[in-house]
Amino acid sequence: MAGENVIEVESLVVVYRNGRKSTRAVDGISFQVKRGECVGFIGPNGAGKSSTIKAIMGFLFPASGTVRVFGLPAGSVESHKRIGYLPEVALYYPFMKGHELLELYGGLHRIPKKKLKRRVPELLEQVGLYGMGETLIRNYSKGMQQRLGIAQAIIAEPELLVFDELSSGLDPLGRHDLREVLLELKGKGTTIFFSSHELSEVETLCDSVLMIRSGKIVCEGDVSDLMKPLDKYEIVFSLASAAEILSSLPPDATFEDDGEKKRIEVNSHEIYSQLLTSFVNAGAVIHHSEARRTSLEDFFVNLVRPDGERGK
Ligand code: ADP
Repeated sequence: MAGENVIEVESLVVVYRNGRKSTRAVDGISFQVKRGECVGFIGPNGAGKSSTIKAIMGFLFPASGTVRVFGLPAGSVESHKRIGYLPEVALYYPFMKGHELLELYGGLHRIPKKKLKRRVPELLEQVGLYGMGETLIRNYSKGMQQRLGIAQAIIAEPELLVFDELSSGLDPLGRHDLREVLLELKGKGTTIFFSSHELSEVETLCDSVLMIRSGKIVCEGDVSDLMKPLDKYEIVFSLASAAEILSSLPPDATFEDDGEKKRIEVNSHEIYSQLLTSFVNAGAVIHHSEARRTSLEDFFVNLVRPDGERGK
């Protein structure tokens, strides 16, 4: 059902205790992921992403708060059957061949042997490991192991995919292939939740992002909505009688006039287009016009960097 919450995290607190030292890795966060959504989980190293993902998988017990997946307690066998999971570091039996590992995982998911015989070569091809099924995993590169991990995660066509550090260890080609695989799964309605350092990837794949810092959610929402207010549009022009057009400038616009050239900066693409049309119609000389779109990376750096370090 669309709109149904697949992941529900409520006031989650994760604390690690080592002797007398305790680390509050996740500090009371709440969020939901709806069916069919693709959500990117981002934040600096040590922010609490892995700990949150482990709590979603039921691999650790929260100090307080609740995590439900498909309405079931995190870690329940029933919820695990419906999740494809790729850990940050996936270690597979080095003495196995690629196809043997996938057959093992397929068997654990109770996929019939006959179906697996068809599915495994298809999967290997899908993740860019065509012809590698007979190779021992010990001879796989890090990127190839990561690809195998992805195949393992999607073998049972899960309803929810959870990836910790998506694309770590993948080269640009690997990232491209992975993006294709995920876009296809997303198109089929799979719910996807992943942490990543590749912000361009998050921007391309995700509907929304969740940003965490020091165990707290600092920002969440639709990717384009979050970044829209940071976009800037600039026009440098000369026009003797610009007063009428300038009277319609929004209050947050910047206007400078050095006597020779005038410069306007606005935040809205619509207003930018309207102004350009008005200036051209009024016979202005346009010296320069530019749309400076904010990338998720710019947004992220501005948000997580302490104030004193801005601009460095
Ligand atoms: P991220 O995935 O965002 O890099 P983590 O969830 O791995 O962050 O870590 C959050 C905080 O918890 C960090 O300060 C980290 O050092 C600490 N931490 C993570 N795992 C453990 C552990 N097993 N024992 C003690 N501290 C841990």
